[in-house]
Amino acid sequence: MSFSRRSFLLGAGSGLSLLVVTACTEKSPVPTTSAIPSPTPSSAVPAPSGIERSSWSSDPFARGSQSFLAPGSTPQHRDDLSRPVGGRVFFAGEATSADLAGTVLGAQQSGARVATEVLGVASSGEKIAVVGAGAAGAEAARALVLQGFDVIVLEARDRVGGRIHTRTPQSWPLDVELGAWRLSAVEDQSLLTRLANLGTETNSLTDLLAVGATGRSASNAIGSSAVATASTWAEAQPADSSLTAALDGSGAVAKAAGASVGGLAGADLLTAALSSLAGNTGANASQLSAWYGLADLPARDRIVTGGFSGVIADALKGVRVSLSTAVLGVSHGGSAVSLKLGTGESLTVDRVVITVPLGVLKKNAIAFDPLLPFTHRSAISALGMGSIETVWLRFDTPFWSTDAAIWSLVGTDSDITDWVNLQAITGEPVLVGIVGGKAARRVAKLSDDDLLQSVMTALAPFVAY
Ligand SMILES: Cc1cc2nc3c(=O)[nH]c(=O)nc-3n(C[C@H](O)[C@H](O)[C@H](O)COP(=O)(O)OP(=O)(O)OC[C@H]3O[C@@H](n4cnc5c(N)ncnc54)[C@H](O)[C@@H]3O)c2cc1C
Repeated sequence: MSFSRRSFLLGAGSGLSLLVVTACTEKSPVPTTSAIPSPTPSSAVPAPSGIERSSWSSDPFARGSQSFLAPGSTPQHRDDLSRPVGGRVFFAGEATSADLAGTVLGAQQSGARVATEVLGVASSGEKIAVVGAGAAGAEAARALVLQGFDVIVLEARDRVGGRIHTRTPQSWPLDVELGAWRLSAVEDQSLLTRLANLGTETNSLTDLLAVGATGRSASNAIGSSAVATASTWAEAQPADSSLTAALDGSGAVAKAAGASVGGLAGADLLTAALSSLAGNTGANASQLSAWYGLADLPARDRIVTGGFSGVIADALKGVRVSLSTAVLGVSHGGSAVSLKLGTGESLTVDRVVITVPLGVLKKNAIAFDPLLPFTHRSAISALGMGSIETVWLRFDTPFWSTDAAIWSLVGTDSDITDWVNLQAITGEPVLVGIVGGKAARRVAKLSDDDLLQSVMTALAPFVAY
């Protein structure tokens, strides 16, 4: 067994000092709000002047945020999912990436890989359909067009980008990224170079960090070392388990519970660390494989502030894209592939590249005839699909004074405990909440009013900072 585990570091990025604030301040009475931005007199947090939120958990064309390795699943399942079927149906997308699953770069690389596979069997001039205009589909389509194939991209949404979703809402001072926006300076170098060539601004999360000076500020070494202990312990076990089981079995929970730093309880710090982990993987510790669940986790220390979707639009230049065209069925038994479209039409092509998210495959939203081979179906079932949601809040003036870029709430029952302070990075008073796992699915179901109430309560401890 080989582990390619990257270092696990806490915070919305990693390698970061982070401002950790205990939430044991007295809770304000819950304000009743009916509309944004209605004033909330009982909270010290002013009402935001703008709020933007994602809804990946319920999005029919995503059904979650990114794939993860659940207990009992292995990287082999990703490999199984990536195998072509009958030389006619090909698979790409982040879930098929061998070592960068759950990332934009992994999706892009899978697109390049699948184009090579198609090239290996297709004759020149063949008609190829690429299903999905996200990072994987855009990369595959671009490469196939360059090779002279007759390519059409079929995209269910009315936009390209998939789980990269840049919005430019009116009166916001900066682009809002509802999906991917954090990259690793080391691992995502090729992507960062591409963004730089396009003139897209990115910023470091580390350089601009300043940790608050009070006794309640600390980096969460207790949480990260508990997770590291559990991982090391799990590697020595004969069978995989969940990260939760490994935390218990290794004694990491007990050790954390007996520790404290800067007045913060170790148990609360571990809980905060696991919330940050869920915000990176989309999964709770109980859902993650202790052997492989942390393997695909890059250290994310840069953010895209200049519009991430541009990279997909650029890749698709000169490629034929049919928007609002969901693929509902794929018949692939013969010498061609017939696609049933949501528009009521059907399309016959020589080969098809499927790049839809794992969550869409799990829901059987595309009917394959004949059924996909057992290895594909068992991979789809074994791999997990996580949930991450983001909430962007714009304020007229900041109610906080800290320059810390990453905030983590400790000892709270708030759903959103991880925040990025964009003022520290861009100068604009914008906070971005990131939540993963079960809490993300709860947040996704909140009405706008309830979400506003929840985030204002969550942010109250930062008024003093
Ligand atoms: C909130 C969030 C935060 C993230 N943060 C990061 C991050 O910071 N860094 C990072 O590297 N990665 C991050 N990721 C993961 C990253 O976004 C994905 O790994 C990557 O964008 C996936 O690309 P893809 O091409 O595989 O899939 P997608 O981008 O999902 O593309 C698939 C496309 O298929 C389309 N589709 C679905 N069903 C159909 C159908 N039936 N017919 C036709 N089209 C269909 C979809 O609309 C979509 O456009 C994040 C994801 C989320 C949701």
